[in-house]
Amino acid sequence: MKPAVGRFAPTPSGFAHVGNLFCFLLAWLSAKQQGGDIVLRIEDLDTLRTSDALALETMDDLLWLGLTWDKGPAPEEAGGAYYQSRRTDIYDTYFQALEQKGLVYPCYCSRTDVKMASAPHLSDGRTVYPGTCRTLSPAQRSAQTRIPAWRIQVPPQSICFTDGLQGLYSQNLETECGDFPIRRADGVYCYHFAVTVDDALMGVTEVVRAKDLLSSTPQQIYLYEALDFPVPKFIHIPTVLDANGNRLAKRDSSISLQDLRRCYTREQILGKLAFLAGLQPDDTPKSLEQLLDVFSWDRVPGDDIRIPEYFF
Ligand code: GLU
Repeated sequence: MKPAVGRFAPTPSGFAHVGNLFCFLLAWLSAKQQGGDIVLRIEDLDTLRTSDALALETMDDLLWLGLTWDKGPAPEEAGGAYYQSRRTDIYDTYFQALEQKGLVYPCYCSRTDVKMASAPHLSDGRTVYPGTCRTLSPAQRSAQTRIPAWRIQVPPQSICFTDGLQGLYSQNLETECGDFPIRRADGVYCYHFAVTVDDALMGVTEVVRAKDLLSSTPQQIYLYEALDFPVPKFIHIPTVLDANGNRLAKRDSSISLQDLRRCYTREQILGKLAFLAGLQPDDTPKSLEQLLDVFSWDRVPGDDIRIPEYFF
């Protein structure tokens, strides 16, 4: 069997927080315990909200914690092959592959058109695109004045997979998702498409990420299959919430590693993260080597985790 390849896929839109570190640590422990590698990819498709400077800060945080990567940018490398914003030519190639299969079509709907046409909304706030532009005739298409986004047609079928922590998950793409965007009107490729192409080309065999992406995974599995890529293993880890039960945000600098580094040693932070992950009964400081000895997915809970008030 080929060795595992895990990945860190940070979006450099702010300083890394405890939730990000929790994810990086589990991805690293899982891959390394299997003798595998880690790829680091910078997810900066949204160039208005991200920056190379923040990508460098994230790398500095990872290295400070000892979470090294085997493939990816060099520690001081701003830009380059592992930054999504620099990979457009690669995405173009795979977009053309989908075009050749007749799976994508131009969509002229505005955001408001989509919202209006897609009622009722699903309980989690997502909208189901009703396929308005799927059946436009060539004449109707050439009569449009708006620059189109591009959507992929989804089949009327359920995608089912077994998540490493969350168990069996199934979604009917037609009724719960609809044809989804691959490329925006401004030419920027969309997250689902870029992440699938990248994980496949970078040889990733296990995707460890926060549970809020669980419901997006069927779309990605569909893309893996459409592009003839092998589907990796998915492990969706619990979301880390603050003491009030709110989601952590990158702008909430109170729990960024940059701040924590001033108050705690690396081992203290690793010990706290290990406690949150169920790897030890308290937050005794630990080294990465010690955590490799005790790590097991069987100990990691599937449900969201609240950081105790006294914790940091
Ligand atoms: N870039 C995303 C984030 O920072 C992660 C996406 C993924 O893991 O697929 O939240």
